[in-house]
Amino acid sequence: MIATMTPELVKLKDTLKTNGYSLTAPRQSVFRVLSAHEAQTMAELIARVGKDVDRASIYRIIALFEALGIAKRLPIGWKYKLELSDDFIRHHHHFSCKKCGRTFPLPEDRILEAGIDSLAIAQEFQPEEHQLEISGLCANCK
Ligand SMILES: [Zn+2]
Ligand SMILES: [Zn+2]
Repeated sequence: MIATMTPELVKLKDTLKTNGYSLTAPRQSVFRVLSAHEAQTMAELIARVGKDVDRASIYRIIALFEALGIAKRLPIGWKYKLELSDDFIRHHHHFSCKKCGRTFPLPEDRILEAGIDSLAIAQEFQPEEHQLEISGLCANCK
């Protein structure tokens, strides 16, 4: 198992260990599915993890990952999708299509990021993280 550990898995293992948890096979499966796909719904995640891990365990694992800052929720209207936190994947934003429900990652935009930072600094606010989700209609649906 050590031989196949990616840097992300090593980081996952360290994060779990620091908080008194171990890297079990189910936790590793859920993490692999999170890292292999863009933002996904809980239903998609459950389907992708497959039968090896039962539904209740996946919910518990996601709750743990959220509590430890490994995964985060992406609010889309009154629903949400799940993805890895900025510690595990490069910081990015999304477009979400209101019609087909697909989520598209936005390319990195330094001007946007600098704008958010300068807005915060102007208000004497110390920014730590942010989410910016844009909803509308995708090229196929508009
Ligand atoms: Zn669409
Ligand atoms: Zn940003």
